[in-house]
Amino acid sequence: MDKVVLITGATRGIGKQIALTLAKEGYNIALNFRTENEDLTKTKEEIESIGVQCLSVKGDVSNFEECENIVKQTIDKFGKIDVLVNNAGMTKDMLLMRMKKEDFEQVIDVNLVGTFNMTKNVISHMLKARNGRIINISSVVGISGNAGQTNYSASKAGIIGFTKSLAKEVASRNILVNAVAPGFIQTNMTDVLKEEVKEEIAKTIPLKRMGKPEDVANVVKFLASEDSSYITGQVINIDGGMLM
Ligand code: NAP
Repeated sequence: MDKVVLITGATRGIGKQIALTLAKEGYNIALNFRTENEDLTKTKEEIESIGVQCLSVKGDVSNFEECENIVKQTIDKFGKIDVLVNNAGMTKDMLLMRMKKEDFEQVIDVNLVGTFNMTKNVISHMLKARNGRIINISSVVGISGNAGQTNYSASKAGIIGFTKSLAKEVASRNILVNAVAPGFIQTNMTDVLKEEVKEEIAKTIPLKRMGKPEDVANVVKFLASEDSSYITGQVINIDGGMLM
């Protein structure tokens, strides 16, 4: 296989697992990172040890020019982008009463505007190739809402609207756009929750456990593959049955 996937925020958590899972499928990996640290070095080594090429590209997805550069570096190295995974994301939880305007804007800028910035820069290459897959990482709270997460839920709901609209715009060019909506997945993002809170959450999940990054990565693998070539504009929940 000579396919190329570009994954944002991919040095840890769900993004890292998506990179490893797709590397095992034979994809060359363009791995976007924002912070240069041990996680980056380790992830790059793990990907290369699988036997595929890995380009790491620095950039903040909330900055349009930096996204332009991420895409340019990927095209310069690999000549194309078959799959874009908009994974980079952040939370800044707070009840609306106490939430500062900057905290609302920052989460929207990274999660939603970041998805726009990356997609806008990648789409022209996919349109020319008349081929492509865009997979956006939303969240179940973008569907259900969650107290303390007006900023995050709005950003993730926005991603769903973005996904469906773009899917309609580019379907005729053989570009498929889908989203996944994970529930509670074990990563740094949920490690901040107290143990008792995690246990309470697990009790409310029909499958009675939090998800693993692999649970998300396996669905992304499917959405990137030929097996999903008749699926576009969809949101697939990966949440142990939390939301039905
Ligand atoms: P994580 O462990 O906190 O990882 C987030 C990644 O995004 C990090 O690599 C982080 O890099 C990167 N990132 C943050 N802001 C960025 C920016 N402006 N530009 C580029 N990269 C940036 O979280 P995760 O749980 O793996 O989350 C991955 C995605 O899944 C997110 O979109 C999240 O909203 C979504 N999700 C997670 C869960 C869950 O339960 N964990 C549930 C639903 C959806 P730095 O190291 O530089 O911060």
